[in-house]
Amino acid sequence: MEETELLIVGQGLAGTWLSFWLYKAGIPFKLIDQPGPGGASLRAAGLINPVTGRRMVTTWMIDELMPFASKAYQEVGKFLDEPVITETSLIDFFPNVQMLQAFQKRYAENPAYLLPGGNQEKFTEWFRYDLGWGSIQPCLLVNVEKLLAGWRNWLKKNNLIIESGFDFSDFRQDPEGVDYAGIHARYIVFCDGKSSVKNPYFGKLPFALNKGEGLLVEIKGLPATQSYKKGMSLVPYRENIFWLGSSYEWSFGDDLPSEKFRTGAENWLRGFLKLPYRVVEHFAALRPATLERRPFVGFHPAFPHIGMLNGMGTKGCSLAPYFARQLVDSLKGEGTINTLAVISRFEKILARPY
Ligand SMILES: Cc1cc2nc3c(=O)[nH]c(=O)nc-3n(C[C@H](O)[C@H](O)[C@H](O)COP(=O)(O)OP(=O)(O)OC[C@H]3O[C@@H](n4cnc5c(N)ncnc54)[C@H](O)[C@@H]3O)c2cc1C
Repeated sequence: MEETELLIVGQGLAGTWLSFWLYKAGIPFKLIDQPGPGGASLRAAGLINPVTGRRMVTTWMIDELMPFASKAYQEVGKFLDEPVITETSLIDFFPNVQMLQAFQKRYAENPAYLLPGGNQEKFTEWFRYDLGWGSIQPCLLVNVEKLLAGWRNWLKKNNLIIESGFDFSDFRQDPEGVDYAGIHARYIVFCDGKSSVKNPYFGKLPFALNKGEGLLVEIKGLPATQSYKKGMSLVPYRENIFWLGSSYEWSFGDDLPSEKFRTGAENWLRGFLKLPYRVVEHFAALRPATLERRPFVGFHPAFPHIGMLNGMGTKGCSLAPYFARQLVDSLKGEGTINTLAVISRFEKILARPY
């Protein structure tokens, strides 16, 4: 039987960061991932936006998450010899008077991460807008596609990944850890995104999956030096390709792209953009969101060999590196997991039979 310290299920942002920090800490691991485009990470725009919502509030822990993410993505980029992060800004074209006023009010009360637009005509070559713009900055833009592919190649070269679906019928616990498909590990950590809602150990956690649809559109001549938002967003993705999105649905019948979204998104783009465009891809994915909008990090209170790093919701790019690191530090006995994120806060719920 092959021995390792930790088995990871899933190589989205959560599994990527957990395995990277384990490698850095010298803790042996093996990763199991079902290849395919079904995960949320491969559909993310990759934006770390510090300001959110109609009232333009700063997002949870952003003053700590953003500098951490900036350093972490630079570190992994250096390791892979491929930069995966850039600092950027999000040009916020006010879609209505309420949003213009919200920006002005928030800027007057607290200018953090906001800069009022200077020359209001600056973007008229490319866009139609009547109410001006402001800038949200700094933002970070992660090339998730490059990161996940680069790290997967490294895992393959080092024989650290098994490309197949995890099947609970092959899974056993023993007093020292867990067995799966000929591998014995002291711990297993599920980083399997939406699949965790069916996990027999963690299915009771208050997940609230959220469907997001988007388009990849080719737009030649639009500067890729920043992202643009007017209700929906356009984010630089690949050369001449912009990510357009996204929807945010709590209630949905399936996880497939819909005609309704596509029609609405193209109508929006035609009204906003002055340049020609071509739709390259239309996609949908489920965000592993949670009812309280906080992640699930740590080990099961009743099964201490079984853990989870999940519940990243809309913010996987900033939460995954930070909380993966907290999990690894806590395994090393060098830190604790934030009390608002640690799984043991659900001890009572998890104690009930599945
Ligand atoms: C349209 C959209 C746009 C988004 N934009 C942003 C953004 O701009 N910025 C941001 O921070 N966040 C964004 N998000 C959210 C972000 O994508 C998620 O928070 C993040 O990707 C979650 O990562 P994860 O690793 O937990 O899950 P996932 O990315 O879903 O990864 C789970 C992995 O587990 C694997 N897996 C699942 N089940 C099994 C199994 N049984 N066996 C083996 N492997 C399995 C899957 O194949 C996958 O590789 C967006 C999400 C969507 C849907």
